[in-house]
Amino acid sequence: MDTLEVKDLHVAVDDEDGHQVILKGLNLTMHTGEIHAIMGPNGTGKSTLSETIMGNPKYHVTQGDILLNGESILDWPVDKRARHGLFLAMQYPAEIAGVTNAEFMRAAINARRDDDHQIGVREFIQKLDDKMAILDMSEEMAERYLNQGFSGGEKKRNEILQLLMIEPPFAILDEIDSGLDIDALKVVSKGVNAMRGDNFGALIITHYQRLLNYIVPDVVHVMMDGRIVKSGNADLAKTLEKEGYVGLRDDLGLDV
Ligand code: ADP
Ligand code: MG
Ligand code: MG
Repeated sequence: MDTLEVKDLHVAVDDEDGHQVILKGLNLTMHTGEIHAIMGPNGTGKSTLSETIMGNPKYHVTQGDILLNGESILDWPVDKRARHGLFLAMQYPAEIAGVTNAEFMRAAINARRDDDHQIGVREFIQKLDDKMAILDMSEEMAERYLNQGFSGGEKKRNEILQLLMIEPPFAILDEIDSGLDIDALKVVSKGVNAMRGDNFGALIITHYQRLLNYIVPDVVHVMMDGRIVKSGNADLAKTLEKEGYVGLRDDLGLDV
């Protein structure tokens, strides 16, 4: 079992308005085998959390720690975090000239394997066929340049294909439901659900409860003003949908 821990995380960014503190003491512990969801109003720092876990250098950790299996990853560059099994759905550049989607995925798989266990062409193609079938994808998509000319829905589907191919221990899926119609949402959910198991953990970040009807989380966290203010089971998402963030804010006596 792998563990990802976020401890008392404080994060700031510097922008035109100066130094902005966004995360203010966030705690979260996840294990493989679990699907966690984070819900919260816009601007509360959900994307900041995922970018910080992945090591985007724009976000400065001013206090606290992020640990993978007990080891601090704060000094690790993005590629090292990816090689050690963290996957962020939005982490890959939208377009990489001259690299096909298939080439990219093969390189990413092999980056996580040692030299004696690199994936061969035949095994890779077999795996690609299997995973594309789960997502109802055409073969032609894999040949297209990475994300080039993909529509929004195709991009999301492709991110989930990358997830299925790379099979990371942990994935952070930040608003994978945004802009998806119901059919695309079902396909994307089917892909994430296909990953479920003892060796996979996910952090699903979403603004809306709808996605969580398809990917039922084990734990739901509510984030407000840069912290997790409440955690519960899947029912918490339903309560939130009914009462809204404002209702919860009142219940908790928060003045944010
Ligand atoms: P959420 O994903 O919950 O909507 P974000 O993490 O995107 O929230 O944003 C939280 C706050 O941090 C917002 O006020 C946003 O303007 C600010 N912020 C996030 N990223 C940056 C950045 N790269 N530069 C400046 N401000 C940022
Ligand atoms: Mg936002
Ligand atoms: Mg966001």
